[in-house]
Amino acid sequence: MTKLTPVLSAHWDEKDSFTIEGYKRHGGYTASAKALAMDPDAIIQLIKDSGLRGRGGAGFPTGMKWGFIPQGDNREHYLVVNADESEPGTCKDTPLLMANPHVLIEGCIIACHAIRAKHAFIYIRGEVTHVVRRVNQAIEDAYKAGLLGNGIDVVLHIGAGAYICGEETALLDSLEGFRGQPRLRPPFPAIAGLYARPTVVNNVESIASVPAIIANGAEWYQSMGTEKSKGATLYSLSGHVNNPGQFEAPLGITLREILELAGGIRTGHTLKFWTPGGSSTPLFTAEHLDVPLDYEAVSAAGSMLGTKALQIFDETTCVVRAVLRWTEFYKHESCGKCTPCREGTWWLVQLLRDLEAGKGTEADLAKLLDLCDNIMGRSFCALGDGATSPITSSIKYFRDEYIAHITHGGCPFDPVASTLFAGAGA
Ligand code: SF4
Repeated sequence: MTKLTPVLSAHWDEKDSFTIEGYKRHGGYTASAKALAMDPDAIIQLIKDSGLRGRGGAGFPTGMKWGFIPQGDNREHYLVVNADESEPGTCKDTPLLMANPHVLIEGCIIACHAIRAKHAFIYIRGEVTHVVRRVNQAIEDAYKAGLLGNGIDVVLHIGAGAYICGEETALLDSLEGFRGQPRLRPPFPAIAGLYARPTVVNNVESIASVPAIIANGAEWYQSMGTEKSKGATLYSLSGHVNNPGQFEAPLGITLREILELAGGIRTGHTLKFWTPGGSSTPLFTAEHLDVPLDYEAVSAAGSMLGTKALQIFDETTCVVRAVLRWTEFYKHESCGKCTPCREGTWWLVQLLRDLEAGKGTEADLAKLLDLCDNIMGRSFCALGDGATSPITSSIKYFRDEYIAHITHGGCPFDPVASTLFAGAGA
C-alpha cells in the first residue's frame, strides 16, 4: 500500500494545530532559531541542495530563485508570498493556512534572513475571510511572542479577488496599489520587483516547506520524490471521488495510488477525465492513471503538474460543458491587457456555447482550434495559454463527444447527470 508522507499536514487533525502553542509543541520556531544563527548564503545553498521547487505551478527551483537576489547592493529586498490561490480546482493553501499558519510565518522568517530582507508581504485573496482572520491572528501572536518585529516584519495584504493577481508581476502591481496586470519582463522581480527593489515571490507551500528542510536537512528532503522532483507535496483531490481532500505524498506518486488512498472513484462510476494541476493544465484520461505525478513525467505525457489540483470527472460529465464552464472563467478573468487573450477568450466562449447547445458545426470546431492556436504563445502572460489547454486537450481525447453535440443538435447527455455536474441538485 502506498504511504502518505505527512510533513506539512502532520498535525492538522489536532484541534489547536493553528495556534502558536500547538505549533511549538511539535518543534515550531526551532528551525527559524537555527536559521537565524546561520550565514544567509548557507541557507540558500541548503535549499538549493534540497531540490525544493516552487509549488505554485511553474516548479522553478526555490533556492536558485533566492540566489538571484543581488547581495551587498545596499538596497531593500522583499519577500512576497503568493497566497492568491484561485485556479479552479486548486485548494491546498487554504487548508494549509487554516490548519497551520505559523509554518508559513516561520518560513517567512527563514526566507527573509536568507535573502537579506526585512519585510515579507503575504498577498492573500480577500474572499477567504476565514483564512485572512486566521493568518492575521497568527501574525499578531508571532509579534507578541517576539518572533517578528526584531528586524523582520510580516504584512498581510488582502487582494480584491482577481485571478490575474496570482501572476507574480500582476500581484506586485496590485500590492503597490495599481491595477493588477502583468509586467513586461525583463527586468525580473529578482532585480526590480516590489517598489522596483529585488524581490522573491514564492508560493505559500514553497515557503511553508522551508522550516522542515532547515530542521531535517537537505538529504532528508532529497530522500523523497523522484530524481529531479524532490520532496513531498500536497495533492488536492476533488470531484467524483469517494473521499476528496488533501493527500501529502512524495512527488512521483500516481493518480491510481492516490485514488486507492481516497476510496476510489465515486462508487458505481468510472473515471472519464481529470486535470493533473488545475483547469489550465491539459486534461488527462484513464490512460494516464499510472503517470508519475512529478514535473518531468507529467510534462512528457503532455500536460503540466501545475498546482497538483487533481479534479476528477466520471462518465456522467459532459466534457464540452465542463470545458465551456472553465473557458467562461478565463474570459471573465482576462485582464484585458493583450488582444489575443482579451478578444480570443470572448470568441472561445461564443463558439463553445454554440457547440454545447448543438448549434455548432464541424467548421466551428476547426475555428475553435485555430483560435487556440492564435492565443497559445501569443498572449502576454500564461492566462491566455492556460485558457486554451482544456479546449485543445478535450478535442484531442473527446472529439467524438463534440461531434455528438453537433449531430444530436444538443447535449447528448442525460440532463440529470448534467444537473449533478453543475452542482444544482448535488
Ligand atoms: Fe491579461 Fe490575458 Fe494578456 Fe495575461 S494573457 S496579460 S490575463 S489579457
